[in-house]
Amino acid sequence: MERVYLDWNATTPPCREAIEAFCKVSRSQWGNASSLHREGREAAAILERTQRLLAQWTNSRPSEWILTSGGTESIHTAILGCIEARAGQRRIVSSQGEHASTEGILSQLQTQGWDVVRVPLRSDGTWDPHEVVLACQEAPTAMASLIWANNETGAISQAASLAKTLREEKIPLHLDAVQCFGKIEVDLAQVPADFVSLSGHKFQATKGIGALRVRSGAPWRRWMHGGNQQRSRRGGTVDVASLAAMAAAIEFSSSLGPRRSALRDHLQANLVKEVPGIQVVSAGAERLPNTLCLLVEAADSSALLARMDERGFAIASGSACSTGSPEPSHVLLAIGVPEHLAHCAVRISLGSSTTTDQLAAFQRVFVEEVARVRKLAGNTTK
Ligand code: PLP
Repeated sequence: MERVYLDWNATTPPCREAIEAFCKVSRSQWGNASSLHREGREAAAILERTQRLLAQWTNSRPSEWILTSGGTESIHTAILGCIEARAGQRRIVSSQGEHASTEGILSQLQTQGWDVVRVPLRSDGTWDPHEVVLACQEAPTAMASLIWANNETGAISQAASLAKTLREEKIPLHLDAVQCFGKIEVDLAQVPADFVSLSGHKFQATKGIGALRVRSGAPWRRWMHGGNQQRSRRGGTVDVASLAAMAAAIEFSSSLGPRRSALRDHLQANLVKEVPGIQVVSAGAERLPNTLCLLVEAADSSALLARMDERGFAIASGSACSTGSPEPSHVLLAIGVPEHLAHCAVRISLGSSTTTDQLAAFQRVFVEEVARVRKLAGNTTK
């Protein structure tokens, strides 16, 4: 039987257009974008075209986009570059629901003496923009860095109102928008954040390519040294094949039009009806239209994942980074899920090629496997 991939928040299959663009550029336009000869100019044209597409996609300026190796590098570049330019202000405001790539660098900065404040999450999985602003006003603040849409729960926080207020307060804001692109509209005229991170492999580009918006005029110093690449904002020879793949994925993603949540909502309603003891995480929040995070009482998520995998279905127990870790998700704990239930969390994330038939098959097998996992563990939930 054909495998059914339902872990699109971890990564996505590159679209045909992205693979073709990657191969074409690797074969015939492999120049160094900083070189002055024709090969170099051809590579530079690919870089500029990708910046133009990013700008059109997000209502921003082409020159504001720095191309990176992915979400993690974009996040590091935003945070380390901004705090470097904000000498004397020692507070960084963030949330308890950040991805490991943000949380990791913030913990490191904390050990170096930075005053890192993590605002709590509400029970629907979102952070409160008022709490972020209050934390910024309490002490001289270098910047705020917040996740816009959570990779585990799909909860979308109110980034627009936060960005507008922090702009008035003159406090730089970085948004981790890695999960937003290709799923919800990202209009940076409406959400005027100084720094915005994205990652190509989350919207069907190839892996190892991402971008960071650095608003012109935002306080920021280069972090990756090395030469005059990307107008001296990021050292390192630009990976033009991956850039071309990301440009193709942006066009592919734009051609799909607005994403709808109908498939996810249908699956959610059916599972809630058919599986006793199931709760939908962040049900009360605005959510990414493709994401369904469930707490399946008395069914250990690693056992359930392994069984579903064996039956041909790929799902996750949380963020890709925490999969395989015995620790319960810090995001679920932050929204008040008790530890024993956090061990029973699964995430189902849909994508552009997910079909009704695949979800019907998934639902049938999931119902069977939940019952089996509970029985093996000696638990039955009526
Ligand atoms: N931020 C969020 C919300 C993510 O989901 C991820 C990846 O899972 C990242 C950052 C890191 O992105 P990348 O894998 O491109 O480094």
